[in-house]
Amino acid sequence: SPVVELSGVHKTYDVGGVVEALAGVSLTLPEGSYTAVMGPSGSGKSTLLNLIGALDTPTEGRVVVAGEEVSTASDGTRAELRGTDIGFVFQTFNLLSRLTAVENVGLPLVFAGVPRAERRERARELLTDVGLGDRTDHLPTELSGGQRQRVAIARALVADPALVLADEPTGNVDTETGGRVLDIFDRLHAAGNTILLVTHERHVAERADRIVHVRDGELERIEDLGDDA
Ligand code: ADP
Ligand code: ADP
Repeated sequence: SPVVELSGVHKTYDVGGVVEALAGVSLTLPEGSYTAVMGPSGSGKSTLLNLIGALDTPTEGRVVVAGEEVSTASDGTRAELRGTDIGFVFQTFNLLSRLTAVENVGLPLVFAGVPRAERRERARELLTDVGLGDRTDHLPTELSGGQRQRVAIARALVADPALVLADEPTGNVDTETGGRVLDIFDRLHAAGNTILLVTHERHVAERADRIVHVRDGELERIEDLGDDA
């Protein structure tokens, strides 16, 4: 069964005038697929990502993630889903400033009830994977933007989520770091993780198996890049 299935999804915001951010979207993410989402600003990309990431619920339609019906799930169930099945890489990193890199990365495991020593070990492994094995005890303020982005990626992956979601993961980092971040996604893809990333950069999107083009809250076109593993 697919990791993600959206059918007939609508999302409207009522801000003294109704905005239809998503106007009937159906999309399936098969297990192990790597999908990029592109589209103009305001086309609904973030809304789509937030729904798949169980951060929000649709106004109409069904969103099923890892077998869980997000549309009708309680806040608690959605929080659990985010903690165990979904790794979310935010554009703005969202690291806790008082925690070191290894503590930030281990955070999702706190909610999963993993003991401290095991958390540190797992977080160290992940930081080493992203090339930050020598920065484990640094605070976010002691790291560069690119290093923070890699800490955020390590945190998104520490609980070994079935699904990795990323909003412009290369948006706030230099070209070289962006390349390293994309290499990490390539490795995840090769390891069988399901990946969805939002980007406005064509060369970034081309690393995926297919590009979903969004416009005015609708899927305009799905471009198959035909090199799925
Ligand atoms: P994108 O990520 O493609 O830029 P968004 O999903 O952020 O698009 O936004 C789609 C539309 O929905 C836009 O018109 C935006 O202003 C509106 N929108 C998104 N989030 C909200 C919100 N929380 N409240 C009101 N309007 C929103
Ligand atoms: P991006 O296009 O880089 O993803 P946006 O500025 O479109 O960034 O959206 C950033 C966040 O703000 C998203 O989570 C989106 O849901 C929210 N947002 C977007 N437009 C509005 C809006 N008009 N009112 C409230 N929140 C919004």
